[in-house]
This record gives sequence, structure tokens and C-alpha cells, in this order.
Amino acid sequence: MNCLFCRIINNEIPSKKIYEDDKILVFLDINPKASGHMLIIPKTHYTNIEDIDLDVLKHINDISKKIYQLLKDKLHIDGITICQNNGISQEIKHFHMHLIPNYINNNSLSLEEVYKVLTRE
Ligand code: AMP
Repeated sequence: MNCLFCRIINNEIPSKKIYEDDKILVFLDINPKASGHMLIIPKTHYTNIEDIDLDVLKHINDISKKIYQLLKDKLHIDGITICQNNGISQEIKHFHMHLIPNYINNNSLSLEEVYKVLTRE
């Protein structure tokens, strides 16, 4: 299948992975709206909210809570917007949840700097 996010899951296209398990992958958005902007995607291809399995959706929500905590701990974010586009609002037709940090003071780290901060022990 010629799906960009399926190719990321299959390691055919590189990504900055933050978390992975048997059901989902979390990685940094290549064009972040704020430092630490991430996407959570299911490893099975679903197009959007219309066809995603509800157990997988629950798992994505569970992980989004953990990632919010990680972003608070490591990047000291002050808030987060969690959203998901469908239909004409959606560019990539593989379900993805956006996690977009909000900061009181602007935090403009590069993708590489964000990756280092989030992945160091
Ligand atoms: P949407 O409009 O909800 O479909 O958003 C798609 C998101 O995927 C955008 O925020 C893009 O910056 C992001 N994106 C596109 N290609 C890549 C990629 N290769 N690696 C990481 N994020 C990507």
C-alpha cells in the first residue's frame, strides 16, 4: 500500500520515534506547530474516525495521557491540544492523533533538540 504512514511503520521512511508498541507508533511531526508536536498512529491502516477500531482508539487515548505527562516532565509544556482531522481536513489518509503542546513562553527547539530531550533517560 502506498501510504506514507504505513511506510513509516515499516521503517521504509525514517521518523523520530518517541514510543512504540504492538498496536501504535508515536513520532515527531516533521512540520511541528510547536516544539514537541507528535502524532500517534495505529499500526493497522485505518483511514480516520469512521473506520478505526474502538479498542485501538481507546489505546491511542490511553497513550496520549502518558505522552502528555512525558511532555510536561521533559519539555515543561503548559498545555496541550489533542486533535484529529477527517475528510477534507485530513491530508494523510491514515488515522493520526495530533498532540500539540502549548507554552506560556515560546519554546522554539529544533526537531533534533526536541528528540534528544524526549529520548534521554
Ligand atoms: P493532517 O492534516 O491531520 O493529515 O496532518 C498530517 C500531518 O502529518 C502534518 O502535521 C504533517 O506535518 C505531518 N507529516 C507529513 N509527513 C510526515 C513525515 N514524513 N513525518 C512526520 N510527520 C509528517
